[in-house]
Amino acid sequence: MLKLCLCVMLLCLTMIDRVVAQTSPPGEPKAKAAGKAAQTPDRNRGKPLPPGVRDYTSRNFLMHTDLPPEDAKELLTRLETMLTLISKYWGKPNRAVIEMYVVKDLSVWPPGSIDGRGLQSIEAGAGVTLGQTAFIGNEAVDAKAVVYSVADRGTPQHEAVHAYCQLNFGRTGPTWYSEGMAEMGQYWKEKDTSVAIHPVVFDYLKKSEPKSLDEIIAPGQTTGDSWENYAWRWALCHLLANNTNYASRFRPLGLSLLSSRPGSFELTYGPSAREISFEYDFFLKHLEQGFRADLCSWDWQTKPVAVRGTATVQSKIDAKKGWQASRLLAKAGETYQFTTTGTWKTGTEGEAISPGSAESETGRLAGVLFNDYELSEPFIIDIANGWTAPSDGALYLRCHEGWGALQDNTGTVAVKIKRGTESVRTPANGEPAETLPASKETATGK
Ligand SMILES: [Zn+2]
Repeated sequence: MLKLCLCVMLLCLTMIDRVVAQTSPPGEPKAKAAGKAAQTPDRNRGKPLPPGVRDYTSRNFLMHTDLPPEDAKELLTRLETMLTLISKYWGKPNRAVIEMYVVKDLSVWPPGSIDGRGLQSIEAGAGVTLGQTAFIGNEAVDAKAVVYSVADRGTPQHEAVHAYCQLNFGRTGPTWYSEGMAEMGQYWKEKDTSVAIHPVVFDYLKKSEPKSLDEIIAPGQTTGDSWENYAWRWALCHLLANNTNYASRFRPLGLSLLSSRPGSFELTYGPSAREISFEYDFFLKHLEQGFRADLCSWDWQTKPVAVRGTATVQSKIDAKKGWQASRLLAKAGETYQFTTTGTWKTGTEGEAISPGSAESETGRLAGVLFNDYELSEPFIIDIANGWTAPSDGALYLRCHEGWGALQDNTGTVAVKIKRGTESVRTPANGEPAETLPASKETATGK
């Protein structure tokens, strides 16, 4: 039941009638000339509304709906908040009012009161944005967008993103971008970039073999294909929009995809293909509700070093971040001693603790080895007795806790690492004699 419901929720079509405005005068789009307020569409002005259907207006929306007034007002507030956020993100104030038909009970709407293409989509339990754009050359000079949507939680917001793009850019971009960003739109919250997606989408992404990046961005895809495809598009857009390694390039890429400027995923991210691929796999593997892609961005800058003699490497590990460079290039079989200074908290409640005194695994110092874009299984560092590297690799550290629960953590712990006095390394050939056996302390890295 839930799956069917979701299927429908995520189905969406964007029909764009491209109209070349040969007779329109060149110049500023009307909204720009009119100032800040968006223009009101005149399509339905004066048309009587069916009983049970009311109009609600706000700065950027004209909504016809049979929703109860309280629900209608709540939706309008959510739509306005989202529109403010996406206008800021794409750097374009909305130029015209978005007209929306939001249908809770179709029987209230008499025949002919809803456009046939909109009706078809609503009957399928989905949404559609009908757009018309006038271009001069490649520049959109005038546009209209009307949304028809079922009155569920996400579809009106999803469609409103399409409508905004249609009105202000004259296009919504390639399918992966258009639908990925519209899916983000339905989850968009002010000052909260943590993952909070539909539980069915979450389960699907957790249980599926990750779809490759190439598959997600492949040309020739059609909108409304399947909710599963929408889930992958969301995952890619969410990661690129939030991970600090890629976010600053993602916005201009989006703007070029929404305009006539040349741009493509390959052009923007080609040189970072291995890094993105690594972080995309990591994101899907550690995806949790509450996961913060920005806090878990990988550190590609810090170069690790092998320590010799009494030399030490030092790092500062932030409790709310994902894996962070310890600066140590560990050698298999070598034992290392850790000294930590400082405390952290794994939530807003409770006492600050030092990683060595945590009573459970939560709050202890965890490590993972990175070697040629592969990660070892994560492990808990035994601060009192030292740690023997099970394999070669750059050591990354973090405060151990579930990946969806990091954002309320506070505190930073300074970590010093040096070579231990005991070594199982065979001095004769320098090869590792044994690696650390799996212990009950080994973290499973949920
Ligand atoms: Zn869509």
